[in-house]
Amino acid sequence: MRFIDIAFILPPAGFDQKAAEAQADGDENIGNHSDVWRDCKPNLKQASFDKCYYCEMKDIRSDGTVDHYRPKSKYKWAAFRLDNFRFACTFCNSRRTDQKTGEIGGKGAGFPLFEGCEPATCDDEICNEIPLLLDPCNAADPDALDYRTDGVMVPTSENDANPQMVRAMTSIEAYHLNHSDLQEARRRAAIEIQEKITEAESLMKRFSDGDLSAKQAYTSAVRDLKRRLDQRAELSVFSKRVLQAYKNKPFVEQILAAD
Ligand SMILES: [Zn+2]
Repeated sequence: MRFIDIAFILPPAGFDQKAAEAQADGDENIGNHSDVWRDCKPNLKQASFDKCYYCEMKDIRSDGTVDHYRPKSKYKWAAFRLDNFRFACTFCNSRRTDQKTGEIGGKGAGFPLFEGCEPATCDDEICNEIPLLLDPCNAADPDALDYRTDGVMVPTSENDANPQMVRAMTSIEAYHLNHSDLQEARRRAAIEIQEKITEAESLMKRFSDGDLSAKQAYTSAVRDLKRRLDQRAELSVFSKRVLQAYKNKPFVEQILAAD
């Protein structure tokens, strides 16, 4: 999960009027105005370079969906608010079973809150509500998630009295962030990054030893590693985590410092 600054996402032309009219049509008719959020999809998608806000993958087999962070079924007042829309893949957004593990995940219409919190009934009450689901559009939330280099996502904090740890645990399950396909994609990325680091290190040594023909290949290997961290790349946050394990190598430290 990578922070997406929703403040910079532009609404499509005529959005405010269309959203106001849809809201005024009544709670029972929300489903008849799905074009309001669908029209926002291109801009939402562009903000994350076509990646799902939750898992950082591009689902090339589907067009993705507009998820309501606060579900429209429970938060009818937030059904047509741009700041409630997230671009999501169907794996993170919809309830489905992982065929390999049998585990069920995906957000669906769930939106659990910390005990004692009441669901916000309007925008002004959001500050009183502590959702258990991490929000990619909240700058502090993606940092609650960490990764093992074998591709398994874990909470950053190991202290279960830390609210961010509880939120991370809940979110990993709710967004299906340890779906077996996703874990496998991360595991493969980690292997490729580790191989590229070894290759770069070997080329750098050859270059240092006077083999000038190694310079171009070394530059290409560093470029490939930098591309992994780019905000346009899938799994960029995970890739950064993998590289951080090698920051004792000066060239890796430089790559991380430039990110
Ligand atoms: Zn996803």
